[in-house]
Amino acid sequence: MYKKVTNKDVLALEKLIDKTRVFIYDDSISEYSKDELGTLIGKPEVIVKVESTKEVSKVAKYAYDNNIPLTVRGSGTGLVGACVPLYGGIVLDMTLMNKIINLDEENQILEVEAGALLMDIADYTKARGYLYAPDPGEKSATIGGNITTNAGGMRAVKYGVTRDWVRALEVVLMDGTILEFGKKVVKDTSGYSLKNLIIGSEGTLAIVTKAYLKVVSLPEKSLSLLVPYASLEKAIEQVPKILNSGTNPTAIEFFTREALEYSETFLGKKFPDQNSPAYILLTFDGSQAEVDENAKKASELLINKFEAVDVLIVDTDERNEDVWSARSSFLEAIKASTPLMDECDVVVPRSEVSDYIKYTYELEEKYGLRLPSFGHAGDGNLHIYICKDDLSDEEWEVKLDLVFHDLYKRAKEVGGLVSGEHGIGYAKMEYLKESLGDVQINLMRNIKAAFDPKNLLNPGKIV
Ligand SMILES: Cc1cc2nc3c(=O)[nH]c(=O)nc-3n(C[C@H](O)[C@H](O)[C@H](O)COP(=O)(O)OP(=O)(O)OC[C@H]3O[C@@H](n4cnc5c(N)ncnc54)[C@H](O)[C@@H]3O)c2cc1C
Repeated sequence: MYKKVTNKDVLALEKLIDKTRVFIYDDSISEYSKDELGTLIGKPEVIVKVESTKEVSKVAKYAYDNNIPLTVRGSGTGLVGACVPLYGGIVLDMTLMNKIINLDEENQILEVEAGALLMDIADYTKARGYLYAPDPGEKSATIGGNITTNAGGMRAVKYGVTRDWVRALEVVLMDGTILEFGKKVVKDTSGYSLKNLIIGSEGTLAIVTKAYLKVVSLPEKSLSLLVPYASLEKAIEQVPKILNSGTNPTAIEFFTREALEYSETFLGKKFPDQNSPAYILLTFDGSQAEVDENAKKASELLINKFEAVDVLIVDTDERNEDVWSARSSFLEAIKASTPLMDECDVVVPRSEVSDYIKYTYELEEKYGLRLPSFGHAGDGNLHIYICKDDLSDEEWEVKLDLVFHDLYKRAKEVGGLVSGEHGIGYAKMEYLKESLGDVQINLMRNIKAAFDPKNLLNPGKIV
């Protein structure tokens, strides 16, 4: 159905861009055949490392004219196989397009190339007194990857997700056309929002080459509270009350002692508190006075009304590092505890989080599997890991499928969705279909066909 890449195509690509940036795939560069989760493998035929929008346009047009599939790759930190080239063809590596181009202070807009890394954007803006607020856990991801997966992260409770911080995008369509969706403006009701279709489209509609991001003044202060609870259930039940308390937290995370134990083994250091089975981690940011007032009010409520065992103020750099490095390591720590795992990234109404977590305990019993979890209590986004441990490959395949079906079925029943932030890619396609139904999936397919009539851009993903 697609044309195979031949020597003639490689020579043509080498003429279109610098030949030192065109690589024929072999297993010495096997990272291009997978993403961070590593369970889905698809080998590209050729990898092209682009340096400019013009180069992206030329390569896309060549692929379009020759019916060659093209998959865009950022840093490959995705968790659903989204950047894996299922049909071979070209992988477009964006990591050399990593410049931070301009900070427009008057309009509070940061202009960046799509391959710029999240950590570089954070350092650049902080040094100039600004904040780009989305804060997904993996800082080596590219902004293009963050935009096309609509990445979430810890600060979503107060600041929203990546979508809320994108003013405009420069994109290249599959036939090589270069366009700008959105402008450097605050309000925009000018027709259908093509920009918002690209956000979260996982490289299936267009190639993002540049982004204009909203930034705000850097908050004067940030302070976290570590709140031990007698049980996870008790902890999570307080979250809606905290959200309604008028204390405006930036982040509300939850985790159990079990998750901390994985992290302690992985990092080789003890968590600052050893006494409780469950914790909520709260952060506040803003002016000094605002943070002090909100943290004080929250602490009083937590102790006196919200059934906390204690409130530990994370007020030294050392303690902050200990607490947040533990929180940030959960995914990798759980991954290191088992030969293979898969992930469920459901989002449910905040009021359902506690029951949903209890349901995962039932599934652990039912299938004899380990399902460690943690999550963003403030926005109902849960990360549940299904661990293979010592199951045979056959048992694993069967049980994984059953557990996933149960997890997504329950999420649908309680008014949730398949993914809160990691996307659909290939791994969650089946569940998206079950969750949304044929009419919505067909609408999505028609959108895909309007952008990419030959189905060349990251084929086999989302719909
Ligand atoms: C330890 C760890 C923690 C994580 N924590 C979070 C978290 O808190 N929140 C969260 O949301 N995610 C998280 N992730 C998942 C991952 O980091 C995000 O999905 C991230 O946005 C992927 O960016 P990337 O550059 O690695 O993209 P890739 O994995 O390379 O690609 C992801 C998708 O984006 C597409 N794409 C990439 N660049 C472009 C572009 N320029 N134009 C068009 N399409 C493009 C690809 O085709 C693919 O479909 C985590 C991952 C790890 C390993």
